[in-house]
Amino acid sequence: MSTSIEVRNPATGERIQEVNVQTTEEIQTAIEKGHKEFKKWSKINAHERSRLLQEWSQRIQENKEEIAKVMTMENGKPLSESLGEVNYATSYIDWYAGEALRVYGRTVPAAAESKRIVISRQPIGLVAAITPWNFPAAMMTRKAAPALAAGCTFIVKPAEDTPLTTMTLVKLAHEAGIPKDAIQYVNGKGSVVGPLFTESKLIRKITFTGSTPVGKSLIKGSADTVKHVTMELGGHAPLIIAEDADIDLAVNQTIFSKYRNAGQTCVCVNRILVHESVEDEFAEKFTKAVAKLSVGNGLDEGTDIGPIINEKGFDKVVAQVNDAIEKGAEVLTGNEYVVDREKGYYFIHPTVLRNVDASMEIMQEETFGPVAPITSFKTLEEAIEIANNTPYGLAAYFFTENYKTGMYLHDHLDFGIIGWNDGAPSAAHAPFGGMKDSGLGREGGTEGIEPYLETKYLSVGNLLD
Ligand code: NAP
Repeated sequence: MSTSIEVRNPATGERIQEVNVQTTEEIQTAIEKGHKEFKKWSKINAHERSRLLQEWSQRIQENKEEIAKVMTMENGKPLSESLGEVNYATSYIDWYAGEALRVYGRTVPAAAESKRIVISRQPIGLVAAITPWNFPAAMMTRKAAPALAAGCTFIVKPAEDTPLTTMTLVKLAHEAGIPKDAIQYVNGKGSVVGPLFTESKLIRKITFTGSTPVGKSLIKGSADTVKHVTMELGGHAPLIIAEDADIDLAVNQTIFSKYRNAGQTCVCVNRILVHESVEDEFAEKFTKAVAKLSVGNGLDEGTDIGPIINEKGFDKVVAQVNDAIEKGAEVLTGNEYVVDREKGYYFIHPTVLRNVDASMEIMQEETFGPVAPITSFKTLEEAIEIANNTPYGLAAYFFTENYKTGMYLHDHLDFGIIGWNDGAPSAAHAPFGGMKDSGLGREGGTEGIEPYLETKYLSVGNLLD
């Protein structure tokens, strides 16, 4: 196993920093330390845990420019998006600093006068997290904050492409006063660290954000030790534009949802379904707006679209575009690339495709790139049929000014997150997560702390009348 990771800037291919990879023994030691610390951290009262989380959030905010710069350098997203992500990341810490104070139990009337039934919640134990490169700050705090708030200890393995943001956040957590062994990171290959986490009896929960195949392997790996799992996996979001939609709003929101982070988000619009009566208008306005987006280094002011994270991601997007064109899709804009395989950078100009159909890969698989395929529908039933015809069920969007159409679409779409006239539904105070192959469990909102708690009940008998 390699002893270090070279972190590279995906906009230039240049090496930014080399970070140590922990050995198997070091990872086992970290797990043991996290397990041992649990006994202490779980006994610290909730008000103090809440205070430490607030302190962590504040330190991140104080260092936000520097963190955002590191994030843009290792991930490629425009600096303004990195700053937005730092705020999004601390919003989870702030929310769970509050939720730490609201982990309530209850009493239940017993069937016998001489009994009392008392229900309480206790933290689950040491939690291990594996996070992706596309949101290196927020995907980590969305897990760490509820875990620490509940009284669990936490250990995270960030993606190899983007370990630096996570390392900075953990350092700031320690500076804020959270004990060193209560929140730790380890670096290494997912295929090596994953089994060490799943096979460990000391780890009581795995929380993962990443691709569906890896998520499935972690669920299987967790079976032998009967671990709790939370899985935030892939998506294939449909966006439906009804005949009475506000087209200008739909254009604006679709651009945000599709092209943010160069299309590399799990809730990115992946399929645009437009009612046939407004397809021409939408396609024309949307294409005009997309053609104005500027591609470049995320550190340069005015950049809207940064690079694709790596060669594998680039090849996947290009293969989907070529497949669609071969099968009859029309390119309305884009389909241009700035690539240097030797240096290691890969840019894709924002692309819009029309006349796509279900035979094309892009309508079946997550794209993870700045490509928007447009297809049309005649009836709402047809739109719902196309939208639900996927193993994924993370996010869906629709645009309509009619409340009956809106509620009908909401009721029939099999997705965990739905945006109605809203291309940016994610929020720390709402439960984020998917159905079907998109995952198990929810992160955010009051729901997001539940997976870190065990329920215990006490039945007291033989009491005096
Ligand atoms: P990925 O390949 O699954 O990687 C994600 C993380 O898993 C990385 O830390 C990776 O480590 C690790 N990993 C890889 N192979 C592993 C294995 N065999 N065992 C354990 N861990 C392993 O996913 P990605 O391509 O980087 O990320 C994009 C995916 O994440 C997309 O499918 C996207 O939809 C999904 N995502 C979902 C959400 C959500 O909330 N639902 C949010 C963001 C992203 P290495 O870096 O070492 O490979």
